[in-house]
Amino acid sequence: MPKRLLIIYTGGTIGMKQTISGLAPAGDLAAEITQLIEMGPAFQKNPPLLHTLSYEPLIDSSDVKPSIWVQIARDIEQQYDDYDGFVVLHGTDTLAYTSSALSCFVRRQGKPVVLTGAQLPFGFPRSDARSNLISAIEVAANMPASMAQVCVVFGSRIMRADRVTKVSASAYDAFDSPRSPLLGNIGIDIHFQPERRLIDDHPTPLPARNLPPDGAVVLLKLYPGITTRLLRSVCMDPEIKAVVLEAYGSGNGPSRDLEFLNEVRATVERGIVVLVVSQPLDGVVSFGRYAAGTGFAGAGAISGGDLTTEAAVTKLYYLLACGLDTAEIATQLGFQAGA
Ligand code: ASP
Repeated sequence: MPKRLLIIYTGGTIGMKQTISGLAPAGDLAAEITQLIEMGPAFQKNPPLLHTLSYEPLIDSSDVKPSIWVQIARDIEQQYDDYDGFVVLHGTDTLAYTSSALSCFVRRQGKPVVLTGAQLPFGFPRSDARSNLISAIEVAANMPASMAQVCVVFGSRIMRADRVTKVSASAYDAFDSPRSPLLGNIGIDIHFQPERRLIDDHPTPLPARNLPPDGAVVLLKLYPGITTRLLRSVCMDPEIKAVVLEAYGSGNGPSRDLEFLNEVRATVERGIVVLVVSQPLDGVVSFGRYAAGTGFAGAGAISGGDLTTEAAVTKLYYLLACGLDTAEIATQLGFQAGA
């Protein structure tokens, strides 16, 4: 029996056309996919049965908002029983946010959900669109059941959805997963790493009820010169429920600036989640490593461990949508508050 796959086309460079104001999403990718398949032996083995769902309007992923994550997750869950796997075509700019969001918001498990996109549109010389699409379809059709999960396929890599990040605007390997081993490699053959099973940051599947409004999660990057006034003005916004603080190295921040740390503490005491992640690509937060990180722990901030910024933002939206408070969010993320 051929595998049945649903291809969800949201937009992005992969199907864009040149316009007078630059590349913009276009609507005929479904036809291109059909043509691609009819053109000949696109697939190495077991050609799957493909159906496409094209979003209206198609968007550049710079326009993605949390409500789109929920829409894609809902489309997948509603058709979960009808397909063996799903391929989501998405722009690269915010693909890592959407992949991480889907790993939370798609609560049904056991089938592959593969996100991909391209650096150059279909039909452009040396475009990676065709190869990425075929690789994503092959991964979705052949991923071992033991590791079936939401993942990203791009260039030569198969990556964990909630640890992937965009590392290049021009290379064909535009994404990497420096904080978590690859789930597989794509070369002449596709090699899966079946020992790298699904690692779920949310062991208790929770139903997401109410997506908090845009702006409920805010992202703030530490830099030399950041002021307490800035932190306060951001955290005093009444819409805010959680702050992702991109700290230095292993979760370090200004340790001599007691005013800054007091502002973090005051924010936490108002019931706002402060989740600390690390700025370097391969950084992991470990508060106890430097005295400069201990201050955040003492102020009640949560260690984001090896979470990427994209994963931190999207997981907070998900956990807030589940109605959890600060302590429950810390438990769900698997990191102890202040660890
Ligand atoms: N701006 C495009 C997008 O994210 C970039 C891409 O797809 O590569 O939709």
